[in-house]
Amino acid sequence: MKASIITIGDELLIGQTIDTNSAWMGAELSKYGFDVYRITSVHDRREDILYSLKEATGKSDVVLITGGLGPTSDDITKQTLCEFFDTHLIINEDVLFMIEKMMHHRNFPMNDKNHRQAEVPESCRVLKNAEGTAPGMWFERDNTIFISMPGVPHEMKHLMEKMVLPELKKRFTSQTIIHRNIMTYGTFESKLADILTDFESGLPSNIKLAYLPASGIIKLRLTGTGSDKESLSKKLNDQVDILYKTIPEYIYAEDEESLEMVIGKLLKSKQKTLSAAESCTGGEIAHLITSVSGSSAYYKGSVIAYANSVKMQLLGVKASTIEKYGAVSQQTVKEMAEGSRKLFATDYSVATSGIAGPDGGSDEKPVGILWIAVASEKEVVCEKRVFGDNRTINIKRFSLASLNLLRKQIIKQ
Ligand code: ATP
Repeated sequence: MKASIITIGDELLIGQTIDTNSAWMGAELSKYGFDVYRITSVHDRREDILYSLKEATGKSDVVLITGGLGPTSDDITKQTLCEFFDTHLIINEDVLFMIEKMMHHRNFPMNDKNHRQAEVPESCRVLKNAEGTAPGMWFERDNTIFISMPGVPHEMKHLMEKMVLPELKKRFTSQTIIHRNIMTYGTFESKLADILTDFESGLPSNIKLAYLPASGIIKLRLTGTGSDKESLSKKLNDQVDILYKTIPEYIYAEDEESLEMVIGKLLKSKQKTLSAAESCTGGEIAHLITSVSGSSAYYKGSVIAYANSVKMQLLGVKASTIEKYGAVSQQTVKEMAEGSRKLFATDYSVATSGIAGPDGGSDEKPVGILWIAVASEKEVVCEKRVFGDNRTINIKRFSLASLNLLRKQIIKQ
């Protein structure tokens, strides 16, 4: 089952809009077992669109197309599709009715352009778009299905989820496909691949492993294909069990769960509370924690202790500690965590102090250095890490490293 994707729009080629549609559609298609062999972005230009359509014909079972369906003169996808499929535009009364209703609801008068949006190529099957004015269009030719959808991401997703994917699944997948996502943190892709060499070569032929890294987190996706759902599911479970035994120190969750979600679940189930004292992460940890719905049940607050005066006045870090060891040190971060735990009266507190860069490092304390402390009733544990020199990436990585240390401490106690 081969698929290709064509995204249309000048804005995609000049870097004004990032082509997130392709990434999303590619991920969805691969979940359904399609081999996405090519992604192409083209200008809103007749000859470029025609060329990409011709190129995909016969080579793909399915071609997904987005963009250029709007009512403005630069949107020429519809006319070009008519040329390619040797057909012409006609008014679709159902689409016209939907557009009129939508405009009426928004209290906008209908104009010529809106009227033109109800025009569709005669030979296509119309996919009604409940989230916008441009409908999707389904064509078939030379054993290839072509599906044209609006460029607006939420409209495309709506059509994909409601109509396109269910139908493709029916037509192409007599087989069952099951995915298991294992979330890992704490190592890098090449090292993980080394550790998992034997695991990977021992996988049954109908189970494949993919490494999907993002910001220090590596998602391991096992995809199984087979005709019997129950036995496939059991086979996948067996492989997941082996993974847990092989890399227990790196697996923190399954199925897209983030570290902050896992921490939330742990704290809720143990009925414990959390606070933070953040220097170099500048509130990123608080942001991640509070991005989880229901976090008010366990998270009390943070001190963004960027200046030494705040570390001392609000968190009670001793002036002598900072003087002797510096703000970026095990001793300071330990006192920060203890101070915030006391200030907020929480069970746990996590503290960070480091140099996010790109300036400010020294031989002893290079850019990218991070000290983390996690304080609990029992103990305070500290960890030193060293990352790169990109400030934005560092802040994200510092925060994830801190959350991971916090997670391990909560599990331990
Ligand atoms: P509509 O008629 O509903 O406006 P359209 O098919 O004309 O849809 P475009 O005009 O091409 O869509 O794009 C509409 C919006 O969607 C723009 O803001 C554009 O930046 C965004 N968009 C288009 N293509 C993509 C893409 N591949 N990835 C992410 N965003 C996209």
